[in-house]
Amino acid sequence: MPEAPKLPHDLSNPMNDYSLTQKNKNKLQFIEDVTSNPDQVQQRVLSEILTQNAAVEYLNRHGLSAPTDRDTFKKLIPVITYDDLQPDITRIANGDKSHILSSRPISEFLTSSGTSGGERKLMPTTEDELERRSLLYSLLMPVMSQFVPGLDKGKGMYFLFIKSESKTPGGLVARPVLTSYYKSSHFKQRPYDPYTNYTSPNETILCPDSYQSMYSQMLCGLCLNKEVLRVGAVFASGFIRAIRFLEKNWSDLCHDIRTGVLNPVVTDPSVREAVMRVLKPDPKLADFIEFECSKKSWQGIITRVWPNTKYIDVIVTGTMSQYIPTLDYYGNGLPLVCTMYASSECYFGVNLNPLCKPSEVSYTLIPTMGYFEFLPVHRNNGVTSSISVPKSLNEKEQQELVDLADVKLGQEYELVVTTYAGLYRYRVGDVLRVAGFKNKAPQFNFICRKNVALSIDSDKTDEVELHKAVENAVTHLMPFDVTLTEYTSFADTTTIPGHYVIFWELSLNEATPIPPSVFEDCCLAIEESLNSVYRQGRASDKSIGPLEIKIVENGTFDKLMDYAISLGASINQYKTPRCVKFAPIVELLNSRVVSNYFSPKCPKWVPGHKQWGNVN
Ligand code: AMP
Repeated sequence: MPEAPKLPHDLSNPMNDYSLTQKNKNKLQFIEDVTSNPDQVQQRVLSEILTQNAAVEYLNRHGLSAPTDRDTFKKLIPVITYDDLQPDITRIANGDKSHILSSRPISEFLTSSGTSGGERKLMPTTEDELERRSLLYSLLMPVMSQFVPGLDKGKGMYFLFIKSESKTPGGLVARPVLTSYYKSSHFKQRPYDPYTNYTSPNETILCPDSYQSMYSQMLCGLCLNKEVLRVGAVFASGFIRAIRFLEKNWSDLCHDIRTGVLNPVVTDPSVREAVMRVLKPDPKLADFIEFECSKKSWQGIITRVWPNTKYIDVIVTGTMSQYIPTLDYYGNGLPLVCTMYASSECYFGVNLNPLCKPSEVSYTLIPTMGYFEFLPVHRNNGVTSSISVPKSLNEKEQQELVDLADVKLGQEYELVVTTYAGLYRYRVGDVLRVAGFKNKAPQFNFICRKNVALSIDSDKTDEVELHKAVENAVTHLMPFDVTLTEYTSFADTTTIPGHYVIFWELSLNEATPIPPSVFEDCCLAIEESLNSVYRQGRASDKSIGPLEIKIVENGTFDKLMDYAISLGASINQYKTPRCVKFAPIVELLNSRVVSNYFSPKCPKWVPGHKQWGNVN
């Protein structure tokens, strides 16, 4: 994630080169300090959390009533998942203000892109967590400027957006962590810092209409093209969407630049005012952008339109790695930089070697952010088990958890966090591998989020959900005496935005033809059955394209099995994968497609949780 944009240059408080260098030095020294003795820092963090929250109901319920030591904490407090916490979360959401999880007031819920029961998980947070998040952001540019000097001499073009928020029945705001951050005073009223000189005025980022927001951010980025030294978005998918937006709208954008008049599609008065501070009639620039954008090939469009760009700042680790080829194409091989690793539960760490290859990115967990534990993960040949539901840990497994300072090089672990805001030994669901050490602090490769089968943007669809969705869709085929013999799925990112593809092999008992509209209904039925993050991506953010069903010839899944066996799979143990990624397998499936159908419209989505009724 890019660091938070801040206020424009405050001339009364210019930061000179000397004070900037000094500030960077201090931040780098902080990293040196906390990574030199991570265990002591972790001990202190846990002790602070337990002292602050000694009287909370959750800890008392498990037998902790006074600040305690690490061993007693580990003996008494169970390792949990969201489902274990759900009753407490529901009470807080319904307005119970007693100290259930935290002694500080819960200021809002952060809505995670991870779901439970089809709805976003709600992560409690407190005011002081914003401080901690800001601290992590403040480390990013001092690290970056060790590798790319002079970034304070130009601008960053970042496409940043807020999402809709809702209210719980008890009146707490529920919204994604970045929306919360961008709307906070930490973001809006930061003192001037030359590293956060952005092309997007705050008003354009804070615009609730995503189309107007994108239009105005792109327009400002184009107007200031020569000054841009780095470009980015939070995730790779978001940045590619911005480039696609340019592909579709460059003609209108150039018209605005030529005339100095902002397109009436931008109706928000504060956004118009902010853009008009940047937009001046510039026919030469309009000609130049038109010339580049009307060329047939868009290879290297980023370096062509923003010629001084030094790198693309986007997350391309985890499922986002599927976008690396597209970014390489648009960026002509510009470095892809992943700066940080964070979540709604807790912000975790930073990449101290940001110019490394995406496949080598490792994140150094900053030991002051929370108390971290690690559950060893054992996988078969690097393949995670298929349909698996998170289960509670038995006593022996609980004892396997190790501290930050005790993880072993090369070993994979599931991350477990205890936070100041009131999560205790909470399984985030991410699998990390120890790649090395910074001083005594481990650095982790992000391996995967457990149980995610399909993901295009921030959606995370698991096999169980997909299976239920396919079962729901198949009911539409009942009148036709048809059975679904096999299926699998694929996240197709060759389209922008990407979309889910479901391959179906059918056995037709009668010759009654099935009208295309029935398959289209099946597509929509799958989409309606998927989780709310998926449906929001489809219906509101437009970050996911219509779901596609591809019908394959009979015998295709046998061929798939033959292929897997030829690669060494055991015939006895072979199970049809419910999601495929390996290019030759996708090719095999695609070569046997007889027909394909798309969802005819967007699935339904409304902000908030389905249980909340009309409180929003
Ligand atoms: P959310 O709770 O919606 O903020 O999503 C947080 C999740 O996004 C994390 O638990 C990870 O699974 C994923 N994520 C965040 N940062 C990164 C990163 N740098 N690389 C890969 N995945 C990430």
